[in-house]
Amino acid sequence: MPTSICPECSEEVYVDAEIEQGDVASCDECGSRLVVVGLDPIELDKKEESEDDAYGGSDDFGSYDFDDDRY
Ligand SMILES: [Zn+2]
Repeated sequence: MPTSICPECSEEVYVDAEIEQGDVASCDECGSRLVVVGLDPIELDKKEESEDDAYGGSDDFGSYDFDDDRY
């Protein structure tokens, strides 16, 4: 399993072998959510906690974020 370094606590973070850029991993050590910003080598950056990300999916796939107050 590939590893990278957590930007928050500098511990090794295990990431999925099939992880892709933009995916989110989490650090077991400090619990930070980390976004994959590079793959060769794997680089992680701290994910901003501003969005409600309850689904944890990749919502970068087109803007699909309609609310009912607009039609
Ligand atoms: Zn960490």
